[in-house]
Amino acid sequence: MICNNCRTEFTGKFCPTCGTAAQVGPAPVQVAPRMAPPVYTNVVTAPPVSSTSIMGWIGWMFLIGCLPVLGLVIMALAANDESAKNFAKANLLLMLIVLIISLIAVGAMLLLGIGLGAASSN
Ligand SMILES: [Zn+2]
Repeated sequence: MICNNCRTEFTGKFCPTCGTAAQVGPAPVQVAPRMAPPVYTNVVTAPPVSSTSIMGWIGWMFLIGCLPVLGLVIMALAANDESAKNFAKANLLLMLIVLIISLIAVGAMLLLGIGLGAASSN
C-alpha cells in the first residue's frame, strides 16, 4: 500500500509518515496536484529613504546656528530626510511652546505688576 498523500509505502490502516488513512478501494488514478504556495513576486518595498549624512547634519546645524528659526523652517521644508524634517519640526514646535509659555509668564507678570501698582497707588 502506498500512501496517497506522501507516497510512503506502508502496511496497516494509517500511513506512518503522515497519518493519512489507507485507501480501501483502488487508488485514484490521478492525484490532484498540490497547490503550489503563492509566490509573491510583487513584494511591496518601501522606496529607499535617503538619510542625512554627517556632513548634511553639520550643514543643517550651521544653518540653524546662523538663522535659528528660519534655518529650522528651511530644514523642515527642504530636508529630503524624514527624520531631519521631524527634527526641525520638533524644534520649531518646542520653540513655539516656549514662546507661548514665556508670553503667558510675561503677561502674568505685567498683570501682576499693574495690579500691584494700582494697589500701591491707592
Ligand atoms: Zn503518508
